[in-house]
Amino acid sequence: MTAVRSRILDVVREAYPETFEALSPAKPTGERFFSGPAPHPNEVLNLFVQQKLTSALPLAYYMAARRGLDSLMDRRLPASARLSPEALQVAMKGLLALREVELKEAHRLILGSRGSRSCSRSNCPSRNLGPGVSEADQKIVDRITDSAHCGTKILEVLSLKEVCGGDCFGFCEGCTEGWETGHADVRKNVWVMLPDVFGLKG
Ligand SMILES: [Zn+2]
Repeated sequence: MTAVRSRILDVVREAYPETFEALSPAKPTGERFFSGPAPHPNEVLNLFVQQKLTSALPLAYYMAARRGLDSLMDRRLPASARLSPEALQVAMKGLLALREVELKEAHRLILGSRGSRSCSRSNCPSRNLGPGVSEADQKIVDRITDSAHCGTKILEVLSLKEVCGGDCFGFCEGCTEGWETGHADVRKNVWVMLPDVFGLKG
């Protein structure tokens, strides 16, 4: 029994890593790690809470919260995937906090460096230093924060080619690469915040 438990825990550790370094974009994380039909992230979260798998809880909460409120509160789910009022409250508070960070950081990345950044491409919208936010600025912020969706993608590696498609609203490669690098730091910082965001500290 002990051997079985320790093997299961090895799988959990791999799917819900404890360190940022182990969180590889090339490897499926969370419920996507399991072969066959993926369990609902709420179900995984319930199991981990019940089993007191404390080290895996920050990521389990994140995986449930990233899909947004409708997924957290979905009434059509089987009982095993319905969250307790306590877990739901923690997950919702965490989601709101992460969403706020996501919006703030996207604005900081795209708009905060305007002016100080030297973009040499004359046709890049970053060169527009006029007052206010340009349409291209707004569009790229919306795409990064996925504003049509109420979950969060903050721990995902940002690929601006993927989120904006084609010409990335005219922003040059130098700018988009700089934002992707900046976003990598945001991910790292958010990872460190997770236990706190989901009330798992002290
Ligand atoms: Zn540029």
